[in-house]
Amino acid sequence: MPTNPYGGGPGTGISLPEYFKPTPSVNSRNQYYPGTEELGPDEMRISFVGSTPFPPRRDQAGTSIMVELGNGERLFFDFGPGCLRNIISMQVPQQEINDIFLSHLHVDHYHDLSYLLPFSAWSGRYTPLRVHGPSGRTPELGTQGMVDGMKQMLRWHLEAFDQFPIGDGYEVDVNEFDWKDENGVCFDRNGAQVRHWRRSHAKDGASAYRLDWNGLSFVWTGDGRPDELTAEYAAGADVFVTECQTDTARLIQQKYGLPEWLYNYTIDTHHTPHYAAGYLMKQVNPRIGMVTHIEFEEDLVAETVAGIRAHWDGFLAFGAPDVVTVNVTSDAIWIRKAVLPGLTGSRIPDFRKVLGRPDVPEELVLPRPRLLREDQQEQLTRDLEIDPHKYYPPDVYKEPLVQLPDPLTMPIRQIMENFGYDVD
Ligand SMILES: [Zn+2]
Ligand SMILES: [Zn+2]
Repeated sequence: MPTNPYGGGPGTGISLPEYFKPTPSVNSRNQYYPGTEELGPDEMRISFVGSTPFPPRRDQAGTSIMVELGNGERLFFDFGPGCLRNIISMQVPQQEINDIFLSHLHVDHYHDLSYLLPFSAWSGRYTPLRVHGPSGRTPELGTQGMVDGMKQMLRWHLEAFDQFPIGDGYEVDVNEFDWKDENGVCFDRNGAQVRHWRRSHAKDGASAYRLDWNGLSFVWTGDGRPDELTAEYAAGADVFVTECQTDTARLIQQKYGLPEWLYNYTIDTHHTPHYAAGYLMKQVNPRIGMVTHIEFEEDLVAETVAGIRAHWDGFLAFGAPDVVTVNVTSDAIWIRKAVLPGLTGSRIPDFRKVLGRPDVPEELVLPRPRLLREDQQEQLTRDLEIDPHKYYPPDVYKEPLVQLPDPLTMPIRQIMENFGYDVD
């Protein structure tokens, strides 16, 4: 007689708990339409806005997890290449993207920071970007060192954009913590606390994070080998997210044309094989165990699950491909895929949040640019521009705006009212 190793019964699902049910804020049960739901005051919403290491796919950006809390806080764990596109599609105004926690400095975990910094400053984030991350063995290998190097890489761009109002938008407040500080608190705001611990990921300075807020908890392991600290510090988390590599080097050799040893060495020194993901889940015993940072090959899903199930028979889900969204309360967890529009840019931020001010003035006076166009471009280059009279028909001709007005103002109250914000 066949038996079901996970228990359960017909009509219930064999590994789905009673608490797999919609949370109060969920109004569309099968898909998440970003921007249409207000998160409940006691809820946490976790969105996998990037889910792969490499290669990137049309449906998988580099790893990034957005965590939104019912108290209005929004945190980002890693910021891999392509995630920005997903985050903006999730109706998050780019000016509000802030508090980015980097697990380590492999580029698949932070690349879009260099895209975000100048453009969100240009579009109204006139205040510093806050980046949290580990130190390294030497200063230049730490998060601050990376940010300094990134600013050097961006030098042409940052100077060029300095002819716009930027204010303090280029500033990056780096909260660099000691990578050796086990289970140290690296963030404490508004009742949300983030702790970190070291991970074995082939080089010193890789970290895991645990967020605790309002009795709910979320863990992101970052990259690394299965380890005792993670089993200990992640224990009992509501949502435990581990990176996972399906340990099938022989198949990968056939798929990608790379030598088997390259894949084996990479996993065995850097990563969490799928069996180990299940083993860690068993130790941590979360309400839901999730895997991300995985090349989501549908033909390997069954194998991946089988390996995880060698140890873990609890609630399991993939944080891949993009974008999986998880709503969490104390008595419910609900998982959906987000429906992302092809067009973006429809939301403006709550500027009170961005600028850290409680009021909405009639007009906002914007910061003066620091480096004029005349100071960074030869007159000859401008003289070579084609006379606009030649391409504008006379009846639509307008004088080009080549000098910014003084003062630079924005009718902020009117703009926010137009976008439905209650400004009083
Ligand atoms: Zn990675
Ligand atoms: Zn890595």
